[in-house]
Amino acid sequence: LAIAGFAGFSGRIANLFDYARENRAGTVARYIPELARQDPDQFGLAVCSLDGQRLALGDAEQAFCLQSVVKPLNYALALALNGENQVHRHVGREPSGRRFNELALDPDNRPHNPMINSGAIMCAAMIRPSRPLADRLDLVQRFVASAAGGAACGFDEAVYRSERQTAARNLSLVKLMDEHDAFPEGTDTGAALDLYLRTCSLTLDCQGLSVGAAMLANGGVCPLTGHRVIDPRIVRNTLSLMLTCGMYDYSGEYAFSVGLPAKSGVSGGLMIVIPGIAGIALFSPRLDRQGNCVRGIEFSRRLIEDYPFHIFAGV
Ligand code: GLN
Repeated sequence: LAIAGFAGFSGRIANLFDYARENRAGTVARYIPELARQDPDQFGLAVCSLDGQRLALGDAEQAFCLQSVVKPLNYALALALNGENQVHRHVGREPSGRRFNELALDPDNRPHNPMINSGAIMCAAMIRPSRPLADRLDLVQRFVASAAGGAACGFDEAVYRSERQTAARNLSLVKLMDEHDAFPEGTDTGAALDLYLRTCSLTLDCQGLSVGAAMLANGGVCPLTGHRVIDPRIVRNTLSLMLTCGMYDYSGEYAFSVGLPAKSGVSGGLMIVIPGIAGIALFSPRLDRQGNCVRGIEFSRRLIEDYPFHIFAGV
């Protein structure tokens, strides 16, 4: 399925983009000093359709650190390296209904899911644990770049340092999981946390991120390069968890009213997957109470009013 009349579609998306820009609610994330310094009014959007048509608006070429937007990719990589059974022995697949950094585990003493901090630290622990940290980060960085069709994936050293210095909450999550023997045996938990924080500091722009979303929308094959990046079964797992857990404690509401797998991050990034049709990426650092990008939510709601993209729209 392709978007017929991409020019008309682009015009409509540009209108929705302008609408969303008017929304000045929300503030930049303050708990990470380097993110608090972001210009709140940056705003970019990119679309990549499955037949390779592209649209870029505003700051679509401004690179930003992925933060939680990297979580689905880390999860997909952990699945590819360890298999589903092993990964889910250590991380659940149930929405937590709590904040993304809540100190809480599920009844089996696992993090609730891979889309919140505890679960993402757990996935990081399962990415080539026996290798040196630099190699592990390099593997994730190459994976992110190939997911984005070969786009430049950078590393924001300042954000990483800033987070390292303010990691008290994430350290507490590691302690909690450690206390409950949640990690695979022999895990170097310090290295797992470090890898997690480093992957949060990887950067892409909206253009690149939209290609990653389109790859997921395309069952794991990059629509630009034709290269298979992820197995279909892993894509299915990843999209299921993005739908149920991708927007923190707003996930149920987003699934209900927008009906698309998506993932947000505290830097203001948002990736939206329209299965079989396209990938969309937005960047706007103004966040709401849950830590989701205000303009991204506004855009999503309006998109669904105009197009039958809600996954249950056609049933
Ligand atoms: N690096 C951030 C943290 O660990 C990621 C959180 C997010 O984007 N929600 O707190």
